[in-house]
Amino acid sequence: MRNSRSTPDMRENNNSRKPHRMKPAVFVMQQLEMLGLVDEKLESNAFLRTLINTIPDLVWLKSPDGIFLACNPPFERMIGAREAEIVGKTDHDLLERELADVFRKHAIKAMTSGAPCVNETWLDFAEDGYRGLFETIKTPMRDQQGAIIGILCIARDISALKQAAENQRLAASVFDNCQEAVLIADSDNKIVAVNRAFTQITGYSSEEVLGKNPKMLSSGRQSETFYNGMWQSLQRYGLWRGEIWNRRKSGEIYAELLSIATICDDSGKIQRYVAIFSDISLLKEHEAELNRAANYDALTGLPNRRLLTDRLQQAILRTRRNSGILAVCYMDLDGFKQINDKYGHEVGDQLLMSITQRLQYVLCSGDTLARLGGDEFVALLNDQQLERDYFPALERILDIVGTSVNHEAYELTLSASIGVTFYPHNNADGDTLLRHANQAMYAAKQNGKNRYHLYDTEHDQRMNSLQSTRKRFVEGLENGEFELFYQPKIALDTCRVIGAEALIRWRHPERGLLSPGEFLPIIENSDLEILLGEWVTDSALAQLSAWSGSGIDFEASINISTRHLQSPWFVQRLAQKLAQYPELPHKRLQIEILETAALEDFVQSSEAMENCRKLGISFALDDFGTGYSSLAYLRKLSVEVLKIDQSFVRGMLGDDGDRAIVEGIVALAKTFGRKTVAEGIEMPELIPVLAEIGCTHGQGYGIARPMPVDVLMAWYESYCNRSIDRRSS
Ligand code: C2E
Ligand code: MG
Ligand code: MG
Repeated sequence: MRNSRSTPDMRENNNSRKPHRMKPAVFVMQQLEMLGLVDEKLESNAFLRTLINTIPDLVWLKSPDGIFLACNPPFERMIGAREAEIVGKTDHDLLERELADVFRKHAIKAMTSGAPCVNETWLDFAEDGYRGLFETIKTPMRDQQGAIIGILCIARDISALKQAAENQRLAASVFDNCQEAVLIADSDNKIVAVNRAFTQITGYSSEEVLGKNPKMLSSGRQSETFYNGMWQSLQRYGLWRGEIWNRRKSGEIYAELLSIATICDDSGKIQRYVAIFSDISLLKEHEAELNRAANYDALTGLPNRRLLTDRLQQAILRTRRNSGILAVCYMDLDGFKQINDKYGHEVGDQLLMSITQRLQYVLCSGDTLARLGGDEFVALLNDQQLERDYFPALERILDIVGTSVNHEAYELTLSASIGVTFYPHNNADGDTLLRHANQAMYAAKQNGKNRYHLYDTEHDQRMNSLQSTRKRFVEGLENGEFELFYQPKIALDTCRVIGAEALIRWRHPERGLLSPGEFLPIIENSDLEILLGEWVTDSALAQLSAWSGSGIDFEASINISTRHLQSPWFVQRLAQKLAQYPELPHKRLQIEILETAALEDFVQSSEAMENCRKLGISFALDDFGTGYSSLAYLRKLSVEVLKIDQSFVRGMLGDDGDRAIVEGIVALAKTFGRKTVAEGIEMPELIPVLAEIGCTHGQGYGIARPMPVDVLMAWYESYCNRSIDRRSS
């Protein structure tokens, strides 16, 4: 309407009487005269005029046929014209048609009914664009005879009132319909209003609570301090928010999320407390459920690994405070897997539950029993002052786990292996304590199960340092710090060099040149033996090939550990390596294995040796004489050479026993068609003696020490020259 409004002058006048042809003032005077309203009083009564003009509402007068007779300034502002321009015109001259029709209709209604006609109408102010809702009252004016002589119209802006009423209605509807319970209390903390949700949550109707103190809802679960805190926050910040346990009318205790705010008057004095709360019992239950799932094992209800970590942390702190000892016991059931496989998971689960129950029975209330999954449990035992004070409890655990369980037709018996470490003797963090207890548990298994094993801190330290040395070993191998030295082997009858034994050396950047005795022990019984063996094989084959290329037909023997020999891919990998040197006769490579080791797992070793032999590789039994090989074994092993241990060779000149052993070995080798190598020939005098006995080959410091390959070549050259000299002299 505001946009379509046109100024009164521009409006199309659809009034047939065209009143504007006359000057308005003249016209009005005529009209007023006709109505008998022009008398001295009216004309002169400036007081009345002032009155109308002072009224803040819109006021205007009209003749019965709708012609404006007068109006006050607010009405002028609405129309956007001065009174002089308004008077004499009709609604249709001044207003948009739709509004003009409405105004006219209401005026007619008032006149026909003879009573005030009240309406609410949206009006746009031409002057400042204001739009508001107005209550218009159109009242017929009568002369003294009672005849209607005009209409008095008053319009009052009720926009703000309407808005306030609307706001109130909205607030009331929110109050009534919101899901949260609302409780309003006065400054004395007496309840003055509650909503529907309050009744739904607490079970109390508003009649039952009005005038009462909200204390009536309290469950007694919160302490005095809790409420003091709440009141302090309300006084200080005008606000409190938190979770609280309250009691329903039924007596049931429930959790609510509660916000309380104070409403103050202008002077800051508290007038009202408004409490809004929702029932979060379900949420709490859900939370508890999640907590259970996150922290407890579903089958046994015991704390799981996550909660155990937490408990262990607390136990460590407590132990520190009490200067006591904490026992961390890692337990694994022996033979559980077999029962599970044999009787099914259901039986397995029942067994776990029954063991859990029994274990709980033997543990004290301050102890923690947790299940890490499968058949692994951890018990944290407190409150003892000495390690040995825990032993009876550990025995009890073993006994209780070992007690057989009757399941339907079967009687099931288990045992446990327990690894134990004590804090603070083992002054480690929680994770490490668990790891150590776990290591000890494995030791208990290895030692025969159904027992507990105490973790040995020193042993662990040794293992740790071993691990770091092993790491360094691998780095050394990767950095090319290893090298093969070669010690010549000669034929004892001719003194001709037939080849050399490859012996590993580590050129350690910090420690200098290391002999095998200084680093082989650290890789003993580990797969690093395989790693080294592979490197040695590659290296020796490359060397053999290089020699072969320069016309030197040396053999080379390499030392291979049994672990390597028995590894699944040994033969296959050796074949691959050999294939890289097609021109190299395979027999140039010999493998030395310790006599003692070869006999340890005879079947496996002999199978691998047999397969290697098929590749053309020969074997030597190293340090022979120390392993007490039985003749039967010796016959079956496909070895070409027996290397007589240097301890017998070294001493044979002065010790008849040693000599007898050497002679015995040589005789034995002859019987079985094997060659012999005498190791440790420190003195050249031994050479003819050994040759005489019938020993075929020899090596030792008396001939040459192990040396780098280029030194060997130089040595070999001078050795050959010396031999020629000897022969020619
Ligand atoms: P082994 O296979 O019996 O090698 C002979 C050892 O005796 C060598 O010690 C050699 O230097 C030493 N030797 C030689 N002649 C004499 C002598 O006249 N007097 C004395 N006192 N000693 C002599 P090395 O090089 O220290 O090697 C020690 C052991 O380490 C070897 O004994 C062998 O069992 C092992 N080994 C050496 N290299 C390797 C390798 O590459 N792999 C593996 N797995 N073991 C190796
Ligand atoms: Mg050897
Ligand atoms: Mg040896």
